[in-house]
Amino acid sequence: HLPVIYVVTPTYARPHQRAELTRLSQTLLLIPSLHWILVEDSAERSKSVADLLAQSGLHYTHLNVQTPPVMKLKDSDPNWLKPRGVEQRNEALRWLKLNKSPKDFGVVYFADDDNTYSVRIFQEMRYTQKVSVWPVGLVGGLRYEGPRVEKGHVIGFHTAWKPHRPFPIDMAGFAVSLSLLLSHPEARFDPNAERGFLESSLLGQLVSIGDLEPRAHNCTKVWVWHTRTEKPKLKQEEILEKQGRGSDL
Ligand code: UDP
Ligand code: MN
Repeated sequence: HLPVIYVVTPTYARPHQRAELTRLSQTLLLIPSLHWILVEDSAERSKSVADLLAQSGLHYTHLNVQTPPVMKLKDSDPNWLKPRGVEQRNEALRWLKLNKSPKDFGVVYFADDDNTYSVRIFQEMRYTQKVSVWPVGLVGGLRYEGPRVEKGHVIGFHTAWKPHRPFPIDMAGFAVSLSLLLSHPEARFDPNAERGFLESSLLGQLVSIGDLEPRAHNCTKVWVWHTRTEKPKLKQEEILEKQGRGSDL
C-alpha cells in the first residue's frame, strides 16, 4: 500500500475560485493514493464547491470554518496584512486527529489553491519520516527559496526576506508525516504569528532543522511555484448587474 497523501487546501469564494479549484483538482487527479481535504473559509459549505468536489473523481473531505471577522482580510487591505487560510488548515489538523490513527500511513501537505504543482513534488513527499522539504519557486522576493543541503542534511536556507525566521520555508515547501502530527495532537498554526512566521509556528512544535528530510534531488529542483492569480477585472459585470442583466453562469 502506498502511504496516503492528505492535501489540505484552504479556499474562499471569489470570481476565480472555480478556475483555481478546477486546475488544482485536475493536478491532484494525476496522483495515486491521495485524499483532498478542502476547507472553505465560510460559515457554510457551499453548493458550488460541493458540486465541484462530487464531480472531481477525487477522494475528498469537504470542511468549512469561517475566519473570524477581525482576522479577515478586507478587499482594500494589502494581501500580506493578515495571515490567510490559518483557521482552515487548523480545522484540517483537527479532522485528521479525530478521523485518523497511527496505522493510517500518510503524509500531510498544505497546498494553497492558487499555486502551481508538478506531479513530481507529490512523488517526493510520499515517504516522509517526519518533515520533508524542497525549494519553492517565486517566493520571498526571489526566483526560489529553499533549504541548503550538505551531505544529505539541511544546513541552512537560501532566503533573503526575514532570514531570521526559524523555518524560512513557504507553506508549499514542506510535508509532515501523519504519524508525527498524530503524536503532537495539539500542534497548530498560530493565527497570531508575525508575518512570515506561520510555517515556523507549526514546524517549531514538530521538528528541529536537523530532522528535515531534503527532497527534489537534495533541494536542487523547483517542482512547486508560489504563483498568484491576478484579480479578475469585472467592471463591466458591475454595470450589467445594475441593469439587472448580469452574467448568470
Ligand atoms: N484563503 C482563505 N481565506 C481568505 C484568503 C485566502 O481561505 O480570506 C486561502 C486561499 O484560497 C489560499 C490560501 O488561503 O488557498 C492562501 O491565500 P493566498 O493564496 O491569498 O495567500 P498568498 O499566496 O498571498 O500567500
Ligand atoms: Mn497564494
